[in-house]
Amino acid sequence: MTKMIQCISPVDGRVYAERAPLSPEAAAASVARAKAAQGAWAARPLEDRIKMVQAGVANLNADKDRIVEELAWQMGRPTRFGGEFGGLNERSNFMAGIAAEALAPMVVEDSGTFARRIEFAPHGVVFVVAPWNYPYMTAMNTIVPALIAGNSVILKHASQTLVVGDRIAEALHKAGVPEDVFQNIVLDHSGTEKLIADRSFGFVNFTGSVGGGQAIERAAAGTFTALGLELGGKDPGYVMEDADLDWAVDTLMDGAMYNAGQCCCGIERIYVNHRLFDDFVEKAVNWVNTLKLGNPFDAETTLGPMANKRFAATVRAQTEEAVAAGAKTLIERQNFPADDGGAYLMPQVLVNVDHSMRVMTEESFGPVVGIMPVKSDEEALALMNDSPYGLTASLWTQDQDRAWNIARKIDTGTVFMNRADYLDPAICWTGCKDTGRGIGLSKLGYQSVTRPRSYHFRKVKT
Ligand code: NAP
Repeated sequence: MTKMIQCISPVDGRVYAERAPLSPEAAAASVARAKAAQGAWAARPLEDRIKMVQAGVANLNADKDRIVEELAWQMGRPTRFGGEFGGLNERSNFMAGIAAEALAPMVVEDSGTFARRIEFAPHGVVFVVAPWNYPYMTAMNTIVPALIAGNSVILKHASQTLVVGDRIAEALHKAGVPEDVFQNIVLDHSGTEKLIADRSFGFVNFTGSVGGGQAIERAAAGTFTALGLELGGKDPGYVMEDADLDWAVDTLMDGAMYNAGQCCCGIERIYVNHRLFDDFVEKAVNWVNTLKLGNPFDAETTLGPMANKRFAATVRAQTEEAVAAGAKTLIERQNFPADDGGAYLMPQVLVNVDHSMRVMTEESFGPVVGIMPVKSDEEALALMNDSPYGLTASLWTQDQDRAWNIARKIDTGTVFMNRADYLDPAICWTGCKDTGRGIGLSKLGYQSVTRPRSYHFRKVKT
């Protein structure tokens, strides 16, 4: 019997949605339809493709009330935050706005003798494998430029956010994107890996865990499929002695706790100059104690349940291990009575931590943060780089030269100064080390969803 793919709601444990995964034959037929439809799509004028994709995003906006409610059921995000439309619109508009320039041919020579140029051709069929934590933004980061560049796109969304793929498909189809050009399909892991191993795609963009990324890379081995792998992180903040303390606390703690800490570039560890340490910790604890853990449909709730009790169990285990090894918890259980030992997890701030503890080195992806004092930039730099991951780092100082000097030595895809936990669509979203090798957003994002094709035409016999 087919094993159904289920979304278990973290709100109350109900089966919120379930779908049967496609059989290998049906999945292959989907790919064949996408391939057959792609040429006509790419032949349409760029402006038409841009208009249709933007209309699709507008349709999602028009469906906001339903989407916000569904997000709360699927992954626990409090409805008061209104979904993820700010980032979705900002990124989609930006990518639409730069498309003509980003996809324009690079003309090297157009003389009486030669035409030499590089054009950016669509890959054909692009496969998007998306995570649940920001299920609209992470998927649309690739879908938008891939469709605009003339690819067909097949989306396989996370089990936890099964309904999101349906909504994106409805919105794009209603806007005129042909049904075979954009398809949302439901697959289990082996079905996903088989399609990749069968050379179905020109480009696969996978956003998710390191283990998932490794499985995708193994599935693609030997196929020469282009891969974008946007994986996990353990992003640090470093607060220098000249930092604006209140601003740093506010931004870093929001970066640690927003979306119940389930942000790829959420702040998971903080290093503070020893002279500011006590003040920083006191303010951080006060900040966290203002959070309200509870049902995401309650207007007061600022911290919903984690998306799955399995994810909360990981954070609980990391925290308990750290405490057993000498860490100190600063948030009192009594302030968060909604913690149920399952998906509803109280936030936590840990001190007396070090890098022998998993909570300081492995991705937690939950509302917990460890804070350590440091004595120098060198010490902070060594600690920030002591990580298998490399997504972002956040520096806090008034001294830009000092920040540049440190930033250039940090092994991450992005370094922020006096901000954190934000994707700027104009600069590329990328990582290094175990965070993988994705290149999304910005002009460079268009290079991921296309391949360069060179033309060297001699016009006269010389
Ligand atoms: P995940 O478990 O790796 O799943 C991501 C997607 O891949 C889901 O659609 C999942 O399907 C699928 N998948 C996982 N393992 C697979 C396999 N072996 N074969 C085929 N498909 C597989 O990650 P997640 O829990 O959804 O997302 C959280 C992770 O994503 C965190 O590590 C976070 O840091 C990372 N993330 C990174 C970025 C970035 O920009 N770098 C952005 C967002 C999230 P199922 O759901 O059906 O298992």
